[in-house]
Amino acid sequence: MRYISTRGQAPELEFDEVLLTGLARDGGLYLPVTWPQFSADDIRGLRGLSYPELAARIIGPFTGGTIDPSDLDEILQESYRDFGHKAVAPLHQLAPSLWVMELFHGPTLAFKDFAMQFLGRAFDHVLQKRGERVTIVGATSGDTGPAAIEACKDRDAIDIFFLYPHERVSEVQRRQMTTVTSKNVNALAVEGTFDDCQDLVKAMFNDTAFRDEIRLSAANSINWARIVAQIVYYFHAAVSLGAPDRPVSFAVPTGNFGNVYAGYAARAMGLPIGQFIIGSNVNDILPRFFDTGALTMAGVTPTISPSMDIQVSSNFERFLFELYGRDGAATAAAVTEFREKGTLSVGDNLWQRAQDTFDGYCLDDAETRSVISDNWRSSSYLLDPHSAIGVAAAQAKHKDEETPVVVLATAHPAKFPDAVKEASGVYPALPPSLADLHSRPERIEVLPNDLATVQQYIRNHVSLVGAA
Ligand SMILES: *Cc1c(COP(=O)(O)O)cnc(C)c1O
Repeated sequence: MRYISTRGQAPELEFDEVLLTGLARDGGLYLPVTWPQFSADDIRGLRGLSYPELAARIIGPFTGGTIDPSDLDEILQESYRDFGHKAVAPLHQLAPSLWVMELFHGPTLAFKDFAMQFLGRAFDHVLQKRGERVTIVGATSGDTGPAAIEACKDRDAIDIFFLYPHERVSEVQRRQMTTVTSKNVNALAVEGTFDDCQDLVKAMFNDTAFRDEIRLSAANSINWARIVAQIVYYFHAAVSLGAPDRPVSFAVPTGNFGNVYAGYAARAMGLPIGQFIIGSNVNDILPRFFDTGALTMAGVTPTISPSMDIQVSSNFERFLFELYGRDGAATAAAVTEFREKGTLSVGDNLWQRAQDTFDGYCLDDAETRSVISDNWRSSSYLLDPHSAIGVAAAQAKHKDEETPVVVLATAHPAKFPDAVKEASGVYPALPPSLADLHSRPERIEVLPNDLATVQQYIRNHVSLVGAA
């Protein structure tokens, strides 16, 4: 299985190289040359498998032999072993054709654990085999950092540094990073915003000497291995609800477009999916695109669903590439136009195709709170703000009552307790694995928003300086 860049100018790579590389050298994102195909019989054959077994069936074809099948099985068994629910991704029925898939039973209570637990282990495995090490540096607005740190702590071949905006992440999110004591883990509070953190990371990647010196690598949402791990739960839900013999629709609270893109990939692999419904908060660049055919930047407004306070959805480029008939030059031109002018129109034909694939719906904070309180009062079911947006989007845009719709619940309500309490009157408790989070000792490292200072800090704390 070989991988190509969405911008058509980077070398084709194998899975292990794509894993370690992240972003392609031409600035594009990697995608498989062709989608592995699952026939109706193949899909029936997935019934009754445990979650890690199912994951091995789905991920195996993407690795193209670069990870030994028995090693892959072991990696996947370990990745999902410590989830707080035996079903790993349980389905909860809210209404006759409305289901919630709980993707928040991982160690940091957000769906990002599904991909990160796999990514950290896959990284470590490939690096150990090659006798190499890397330093992962990333920026987080709250959920990616904890998931990446939890997945990479104590992995021998990895040092990890995550930058977060000082005093601008929730207490749970901060503590999930600052209470980890592993030597290879560094959470850094930057005196600035999330955008400042992201600019620092970008600048480090653009500093070639520094990049080579510390063997810089990324675990951000454009990494192909993260998408691959997310494809699995679309199969899991659909097979549980009757696929391939009846289609299933999905409603996905969306920010960087990685999660819903994994669903798009599942459909390309043969899974019968009805609708894809995208939910967003007032940062609604994607619903506006599906409504108008124009992708137009606007400022970011902070909301009670902060993991979706995003202006430019990085994974959207993968969908644009498909929309432009897998033409790398056309995709590169479109992305450049968008960056320069802040807007991009795809024309009526492509807009029509995009609309046939996705429906979008957006909610403001007041509407989100009332979805949380309605569901609590009618079903005693507590939704976090992101998942609530998914539920509302499903209810508003679901077309065919015969086809069940599955909402991806992307975070545990206890991850956003203040917003949930304000909406429902209930303060959600942390699950047992994190019950003592607020009494664990914290180590907070505050750094100025200054590239040279942050780089020097990383140099001083990385364990591989001087190593080949
Ligand atoms: C990251 C995140 C999202 C957005 O997912 P994308 O893959 O970026 O679209 C939604 N909800 C929660 C809780 C998240 O952490």
